[in-house]
Amino acid sequence: TGYSAAAAARQRTAEAAAVRVPSPDRARTLSRALGAETHVAGTPAQERTRDYVIAQMRAMGMQTEVRTYRVYMPHATSVHVWRVSPDMRELELGEPAVPGDSTSGLAQYPAANGFSGAGDVTAEVVYVNYGLIEDYARLDSLGVRVRGKIAIARYGRSFRGIKAREAERNGAAALIIYSDPRDDGYQVGEVYPEGPMRPADAIQRGSVLNGDGDPSTPGWPSVEGARRLAESEMEIPRIPVVPMAYGDAAELLRGLAGTRIPRDWQGGLPFRYHVGPGPVVARVQVQTDAATRGYKEIHDTFGVIRGSEFPDEIVVIGGHRDGWGPGAADNVSGTVSVIEAARAVMEQARAGNPPRRTVLFATWDAEEWGLFGSTEFVEQDSARLMRGAVAYLNQDVAATGLAFSGGGSPSLRAALRSVARGVPDPSGQGSVYQAWRRRELLPDSLEPAMDDPGGGSDFAGFYNHLGIPHSEWGFGGAYGVYHSQYDSFEWMRRFGDPEFRAHAAAAQVGAALMLRLANADVLPYDYAEFARTMSGYLPAMDAAIQKQGITASTARLGDAIEAMRTAAMEFATARDAALAAGAPGRETLRRTNAALMRVERALTRPEGLRTRPWFRALIYAADENNGYSNVVFPSISEAVRDRNAELTVREIADLASRFEGAAAALRDARGALGGR
Ligand code: GLU
Ligand code: CA
Ligand code: ZN
Ligand code: ZN
Repeated sequence: TGYSAAAAARQRTAEAAAVRVPSPDRARTLSRALGAETHVAGTPAQERTRDYVIAQMRAMGMQTEVRTYRVYMPHATSVHVWRVSPDMRELELGEPAVPGDSTSGLAQYPAANGFSGAGDVTAEVVYVNYGLIEDYARLDSLGVRVRGKIAIARYGRSFRGIKAREAERNGAAALIIYSDPRDDGYQVGEVYPEGPMRPADAIQRGSVLNGDGDPSTPGWPSVEGARRLAESEMEIPRIPVVPMAYGDAAELLRGLAGTRIPRDWQGGLPFRYHVGPGPVVARVQVQTDAATRGYKEIHDTFGVIRGSEFPDEIVVIGGHRDGWGPGAADNVSGTVSVIEAARAVMEQARAGNPPRRTVLFATWDAEEWGLFGSTEFVEQDSARLMRGAVAYLNQDVAATGLAFSGGGSPSLRAALRSVARGVPDPSGQGSVYQAWRRRELLPDSLEPAMDDPGGGSDFAGFYNHLGIPHSEWGFGGAYGVYHSQYDSFEWMRRFGDPEFRAHAAAAQVGAALMLRLANADVLPYDYAEFARTMSGYLPAMDAAIQKQGITASTARLGDAIEAMRTAAMEFATARDAALAAGAPGRETLRRTNAALMRVERALTRPEGLRTRPWFRALIYAADENNGYSNVVFPSISEAVRDRNAELTVREIADLASRFEGAAAALRDARGALGGR
């Protein structure tokens, strides 16, 4: 799609050649090097990964750039937790070395969550299940007070930043978030090093910051001389928040008494859970460097090939380069995929086939702290990206197994499926696309399902803030060592991707998709599929409106989506006819594609969501009360959630008019192509 016949033949050859470049052997070498030590953002080890990636890109002959930002990112300097009652005893917290796993014995980041407040708190312990809003409501109805206590919540079902926010709102003095064996430990599978799941000592670190990018510069770039919020004005957690492995958490949970747990609150540890509070008393102490060196430098890396015909049109692929430990899966695997995709595209360029559009191969710093590197970049370069970014492709945890999955904007799903047909599956059986279909046991009439974006990774700046179409994919499997010291080369070699074939295949998909988008005559978005996907959301929206007992009709929205679908189909017909007659001239293509790039931008609004102005995209957003999960039509959904009928009606009208704008952009594209 999007290529004239002559160009399509050339492109097929180019993609096939590029797909042969990323190799499992190279991926293994890169993975070992990038996962050689804990590389937390803001540390010397993370500067070494920057230099390593830049050296790789230079060695390919690629032009490189480093962008440095100064961000507010205090590190924990010491963390201690004691059980004070029934007896005084300090918990271990560290992750012991595992024989045969060479990086497990190296320096570790403390057992603290990113953006934990500093403090020293002694209080009774109260078990709050997953720490969700409804869990606190439940505790309230049971008459259990959280105020002034140390809350202990299980990981899972929400982003940990939301857990911290809710603990703080409910007056907890500190929060412990632990990994329950029922969620990613022995109840799920064998634990490391015998298996891929989480052992008793493995800690899930991770940020508890809600919001995107540096909290000292919400909405603007953290460059030299930037205006900064004072620490007291920043939206950051204030209470100590520490992650815990279940070995230690059991020492606190076992002794809880009092209120009987609600149904479903029982976890996987071998005793009956109770809510408390107490009689167990704990002491949590966290020290940070906030006062002395809270601001730190982070570094994004870029490899660039300037487009030979449309240099202002940009295709971006990126993955975060920072981790909490050695990070073999999260996110050395994504970084490796970006590097190997770059090598494949660069080989095409060196063979006399430079991409027609500019291609950018990025590695982001400090994603783990709140998507800092990608967000600050997007905030800094928003004008040129808004105008010229064709797509953003994200690689976060590209390989933990062999099961392919993909997601992102529905406009790019057809292109991703098409590319997956041309990549051999890491299982050795057919193409990635065929293996994907096989796993989903699909009838011939259906395409494999893809995930809606949600939140929690570097696409947010591109998609949620600017409305740039986004796509992502990876190969998954059992993965219980997330954000621990055991997310290591050895884990990957034993369990995740022993042959490094999934790493290579992720890169092959990336290379082919980059080339597909960079070289097309007409950008290969599928806005008919996009509009069909949108119509598919309406019944659930109607049901939600009804359930909330408000009066509002989505008819006008349905009509506008239908108008977009018609415009998309007419555009596709005109495009195929035009391309059948040979490639249109450069100026025609430039104008057509400029109009196409306005389609999804039209489905954003400058003032953003009412709840979150930074979130401008109106099709998908991360749930503000979950952090990871996805909300469709967030401006409307949030009005419905709040049972605000008048606002719901207004938001439906607003989104309908934006779909009309998207349809108009598609008609402009057709006009630019020379259709009537
Ligand atoms: N991917 C990281 C995590 O889940 C960061 C997400 C975020 O800060 O939004 O911990
Ligand atoms: Ca910022
Ligand atoms: Zn990640
Ligand atoms: Zn992560």
